[in-house]
Amino acid sequence: MAGLIAKEVLEEIRLRNDIADVIGRYFQIQKAGATFKALCPFHKEKTPSFTVNPQRQIFHCFGCGAGGDVFKFIMQIENVDFMTAVRMLAEKTGVVLELESGPDALKSGEKNQLFKIHSEVTDFFHNNLLQAPEARVAREYLARRGIDQDIIREFQFGFALNSWDRILIWSRAQKYPPELMEKAGLLIKSDRPSSASPWYDRFRDRVMIPIRDEQGRVIAFTGRTLSTDAQTAKYVNSPETPLFRKSHILFALDRARNALVESREAIICEGQIDVIRCHAAGFKAAVASQGTAFTEDHARILRRYVDTIVLVFDPDHAGQEAAIRTAGIFVQAGLAVRIARLPPGTDPDSFILKNGAEPFAQILKAARSAIEFLVDLNLEREDPHSEVGLRRIEKNLIEFLKLAPSAVQRDLMIESAGRRLQIHPDDLRRDLKDAERTFQRRAESPSDSKLQPALPSLPEEMELAFYLAAHPELAEMLDAHLPLHLIQDTQARRFIEAVRISRQEQQPLMSVILERDDVDRTLGRFAADVLSRPIKSTGEETSPQEIVEGLLMAIWRRELKRRRTKLEQTLLKADLDPDSRHEVETEIHRLTPEIKQLTHWQSAVKTIAAHRAEE
Ligand code: ATP
Ligand code: MN
Repeated sequence: MAGLIAKEVLEEIRLRNDIADVIGRYFQIQKAGATFKALCPFHKEKTPSFTVNPQRQIFHCFGCGAGGDVFKFIMQIENVDFMTAVRMLAEKTGVVLELESGPDALKSGEKNQLFKIHSEVTDFFHNNLLQAPEARVAREYLARRGIDQDIIREFQFGFALNSWDRILIWSRAQKYPPELMEKAGLLIKSDRPSSASPWYDRFRDRVMIPIRDEQGRVIAFTGRTLSTDAQTAKYVNSPETPLFRKSHILFALDRARNALVESREAIICEGQIDVIRCHAAGFKAAVASQGTAFTEDHARILRRYVDTIVLVFDPDHAGQEAAIRTAGIFVQAGLAVRIARLPPGTDPDSFILKNGAEPFAQILKAARSAIEFLVDLNLEREDPHSEVGLRRIEKNLIEFLKLAPSAVQRDLMIESAGRRLQIHPDDLRRDLKDAERTFQRRAESPSDSKLQPALPSLPEEMELAFYLAAHPELAEMLDAHLPLHLIQDTQARRFIEAVRISRQEQQPLMSVILERDDVDRTLGRFAADVLSRPIKSTGEETSPQEIVEGLLMAIWRRELKRRRTKLEQTLLKADLDPDSRHEVETEIHRLTPEIKQLTHWQSAVKTIAAHRAEE
C-alpha cells in the first residue's frame, strides 16, 4: 500500500508533523538539551529512556528498543497500520491524499474541488488583469507601484472586475454550485436578496493576489482596492475556509522554503506586497501572515525550517508594540528573534523601491536581538537612573524573559540585557525566579481564571474519559447506563462521544477527534490532556470495568442530588399548593434512598434503569 502514496506527499506530511509536537500531544516530554525525554509509553519503566530527536525527527527507546519516525510512532501508539497513520497525520495538516475511500473520500473530494476552483479562478483573475479592457486602471496602478510584468506573472496577480456577479456567472458556466463557491469564500449569500439571485461576488474591483499553501496550491486570495477613499477597506481577504486557516498559513512560504532551509533565518514582513517586493529583490526568505496576528502555529511551522527570525516592522509606536508581541510568540516557540528597524513611515516595499536591495540588506544585518530591542525601547520610555524607572524596565523584561522555554536562551538574553542596562545578570536572574514563583502561585489559586489550567473541575468526568479512551469496549456501558447529556463538561462529553464513534465506525480515536474539532483545537487539547494523564494505580483487584461502573454511579449520584436540591428549593416556595407539595415531597423521599443505592453496581443498575425509563 505504502508504495501508492507519492514519496513527496509522505515527505510533506512528515514535514508538517514535527515529531516532538505530535508526541507531545500524547504525553509530556521533557526537553533535555537537543532532545526530549519521557517515560516510554511502550514498556513499563521508572526512569525515562524514551527519547525524541527533533533534528532527526525520530524517537527511540533505549529500554525496549522501540523507535522510528513520526508514522511509526502513530502506528504503535494508536495501534494502527501504516496507511491509517499516514491518513491521520495527513488529515490533521490538510494534506490531501489521493487514494482514499469511504467517508474520507467525500471530504477530500470536496477539498479537491475547492483547490480546483481556486486554481481556475486564479487564471480567470490573471487573464482579466492581462487582457480585459476594464482592467486598464489596475495595470496602470501596478505599473505605478513598480510591480512589473515579471512579478505579475510570477505571483499570478489578477483583477476582479467591478461587478457584483462576474464570478457568479463564471461559476454557473463552470457548473459549480453557489454553495460550493460560498464555501470557497468567493461568493457571499445575501440575507436580503434584492435581485433574482441571493449570491454575489466577494471580490469586486480589486487587484487580486493569490495566497498559496506550503505546497504552492492557491487556497485563498487577498484583494487590494485601487481606490484611495478611506471608506473602502484597503484589503479584503478570503474568509476562513476548509482550505484556508489563517493561523496556519504564511504568505509565500511555498517560495521561501529553500531559502529558509539554507539560511536558517526567516524574514517576517507585515504585508503581502512587502513579501513580494522582498522576493523580487532577492530576499527569498521573506514571509508574512495575512494581516492577522502571528500564532503559535505559525511559529511551529517556521521552526521546522529556521532557528532565527528577523522581524521587519514599521518603527512607529504601534509597530514597535506589534514587534514585541510577535517576538514573544516566536521566542516562546524557542526561536531566536531579531528585530530590524526601518526609517519611520516606510515598509519593506517602499524602502526597497526607493533605496534598492543593498541598503535593505544592511537594515537586516543591523537587526538587534529582540531583548536588545526591548531594552532600548524601554530606555527610550523610562529613566533607568530612577529606581521606579529601573523597576518598570525590569518588570517589562521579565515578562518577556519568562516566555523563553530554554534555559540557555534565557541566559543569553539575561546576559545581554544586563550588559545593556549595566546591572548584574544575577539580579535579573533572581528577580525572574521570584516572578515565576508568584506566577505559579497565581496559577494555582482558583480566583484567576485566565491562568487556570484547562481541566474541568469534574474529576469523575475526566476519569471516565480517560478510562474509556484506554478501554473503548467499555463505552458500550454508556448505551445502557448513561445518557451523554448527563456529562456536564462539554469537552468531556464530546471526547466520550468521539470514543464511541471511533469504536462504532472502527476509526482511530485521534482521527475522529481531529475530524470533529474546531479551529481552536479545543477538543484535541482536551484529548491531549486526558491521554497524557498518568494511569492511576488501582491495585490488582479493581478492573477497568469496575472503575467505570464506579464513575457512572458517581455521575448519577451527582445528577440525582442535583434533582433533589432543585425539588427542595421548590418546597421553599410559599405559594405551592398542598397537592404539588405532597408530590414533591414524595419525589424527594424516593430520591434519597436511591442516591444511597448508587454505590453498589447491582442495585445501581436497577435505579438507573428506572430513571432511564422515565426520560
Ligand atoms: P500597501 O502597500 O498596498 O498599502 P501594505 O502591506 O503596506 O499595503 P498595511 O496597511 O501596512 O498595507 O497593512 C499590512 C497588511 O495588513 C496588508 O498587507 C494586509 O494583509 C493587511 N491589511 C491591511 N488593511 C487591511 C484591511 N482593511 N483588511 C484586511 N487586512 C488588511
Ligand atoms: Mn505598503
